[in-house]
Amino acid sequence: MTIQWFPGHMAKARREVTEQLKMVDCVFELLDARIPFSSRNPMIDEVIKDKPRVVLLNKMDMADPRETQKWISYFEKQGIYPVMLDAKNGKNLDKVVKAAEHVTKEKFDRLAAKGLRPRAIRAMIVGIPNVGKSTLINRLAKKSIAKTGNTPGVTKKQQWIKVGKVLELLDTPGILWPKFEDQLVGKKLSLTGAIKDSIVHLDEVAIYGLEFIQKFDLATLNKHYYIDVTEEAPYIELFDAIGKSRGMKNKGGEVDYESVVELVIREIRNAKFGRYTFDRVDELEQDNVNIDEV
Ligand code: GDP
Repeated sequence: MTIQWFPGHMAKARREVTEQLKMVDCVFELLDARIPFSSRNPMIDEVIKDKPRVVLLNKMDMADPRETQKWISYFEKQGIYPVMLDAKNGKNLDKVVKAAEHVTKEKFDRLAAKGLRPRAIRAMIVGIPNVGKSTLINRLAKKSIAKTGNTPGVTKKQQWIKVGKVLELLDTPGILWPKFEDQLVGKKLSLTGAIKDSIVHLDEVAIYGLEFIQKFDLATLNKHYYIDVTEEAPYIELFDAIGKSRGMKNKGGEVDYESVVELVIREIRNAKFGRYTFDRVDELEQDNVNIDEV
């Protein structure tokens, strides 16, 4: 589903999440492991404040495992507890529960010291659209929960889902907007399927994706499309080679670029080439930007 974000919607979404946060002991901030920086809501720290938090790097099955490790270290260095996850196939779900126990331990120890009876940890999931919030809720609930929470502004009665003995999860995720004001971030969001509408031009998205694979994994690119381009080849040469190899031509016999763009984006979105991480910790650290300031 495409969500159009307007200032009014953004303010309302933020208000709703702030309300939901009052009910929980900890927050699961769900990110796409292929773009842990670009899939973060720009105001997330202001919204979550000092509520105990776990960062979940979802879709790890489509991300580069070495880069995911670097991101795990990165978050640890920031004092944030990270867990890599594949919600679709139910990998590492147990680690999600363990992480919640870890980050709320201090609070529950304090409650116990005051003589309060132990109770389940209450948690909620927050993230931008399409990062896998509903998939994770359904996995943890071990059943299908209706996806009505997915339109900002549409409220429904919220319920707690029991996850084992120790955790209770809010059945409605908090949905916040992506960082769509930055062009490069927009391309990465589109390339990973986080946004499917026309915030960015699709040809630019395809060029970005192809050039990324040309730079980091040229042999795979050549093998995948039965082409033979060099590291220096300009993108138009890549489009021509792929179009010819796949027989994507228009009536005049020329390469049908629109079809090539569509093909390339679809295949990168579904990790048909391989597992790529488009946000690189190295680049972030090189630029010396703080992840929360952008
Ligand atoms: P939401 O908008 O955040 O609730 O996202 P959804 O739960 O609807 O998931 C968006 C898409 O991502 C769906 O097609 C899911 O099947 C897919 N998805 C979710 N988690 C994973 C994952 O860990 N790995 C892969 N490969 N796909 C996932």
